[in-house]
Amino acid sequence: MEFALIDRIRRRAAARGDVVLGIGDDAALLRPAAGCELVATCDTLNAGVHFPSETVPFDLGWKTLAVSLSDLAAMGAEPAWCLLSLSLPQPDAAWLDAFLDGLLELAVDHGIALVGGDTTHGPLSIALTALGQVPAGAALRRDGACVGDDIWVTGVPGEAAQALAQWRSGVPVDATLRARLDRPTPRVAAGLALRGLATACIDVSDGLSADLGHVLRASGVGATLALEALPCSAALALLGRDERRALQAGGGDDYELCFTAPPARRADVLSRLAACTTPVSRIGVVVAGDAPRWVDAEGRTWCPPRAGWQHFLESPA
Ligand code: ADP
Ligand code: MG
Repeated sequence: MEFALIDRIRRRAAARGDVVLGIGDDAALLRPAAGCELVATCDTLNAGVHFPSETVPFDLGWKTLAVSLSDLAAMGAEPAWCLLSLSLPQPDAAWLDAFLDGLLELAVDHGIALVGGDTTHGPLSIALTALGQVPAGAALRRDGACVGDDIWVTGVPGEAAQALAQWRSGVPVDATLRARLDRPTPRVAAGLALRGLATACIDVSDGLSADLGHVLRASGVGATLALEALPCSAALALLGRDERRALQAGGGDDYELCFTAPPARRADVLSRLAACTTPVSRIGVVVAGDAPRWVDAEGRTWCPPRAGWQHFLESPA
């Protein structure tokens, strides 16, 4: 049964010139480009924790790859190969086909090849390892933010969390918001464009304030952020001020990039991200200190109500 499923996957996996041996042997053989470092990342999605159990398989396939592509994007890496570990309650070929439709649509968009994995019987759980490449020394890391740097964020953090909040409260979820939650757009082109420009970068998966906090800790700096500068969508604008701010700064599941860059490079940030049609907002400045401080238009400090998603502390969706 497992082999029939693996065969379905193998038949659909696209080739790349640098895949010496793909699905079918004990392990894949890959040929990294000369002068490049390998960038490796792994993410797990568990039913009921990382996605509502009724998420359709297409969206699950899409999101499985999207979250890992987002990690590669945050490193400034070019996606190359991935491995897929599937734990499935039943050998359901229709489910698998729809899951692969979603995963492979995004894989084709980004030229990433599925080169191996594992297929087992058990509670629904999906893990994907993605490998990318970056010229040696050019990766975007968390530890390079400097006092005086601007802080930027792509897209509109908060919309995915707004979709989740609607879903949890039982109201019909707005379709645009639902797409933000189920089919996030990994900012791969933006990550590549930021090489040699961003001093530090992270992808926003656990909430903007919490993830920026990781950059600040790694870099040994603090930040002052302007609530008024946060990007706002039509849907977020419908919320009350505090609820909106909580989602914008604390939401999660955004898969946007938050990065720092010297103020002298503002024009370059804007032109390079415009060239890859990625919306970007300048939301603050790096200062001496050790944590993000949010201020409103009157200069009053505001504290996000939660410090981002933490496993083992919170109950599932
Ligand atoms: P092994 O017993 O050596 O682990 P498997 O029977 O698990 O081999 O897998 C056979 C081949 O199929 C391997 O090349 C493996 O990488 C690939 N494979 C298994 N499951 C998946 C999957 N879910 N996605 C992609 N490739 C897979
Ligand atoms: Mg195996």
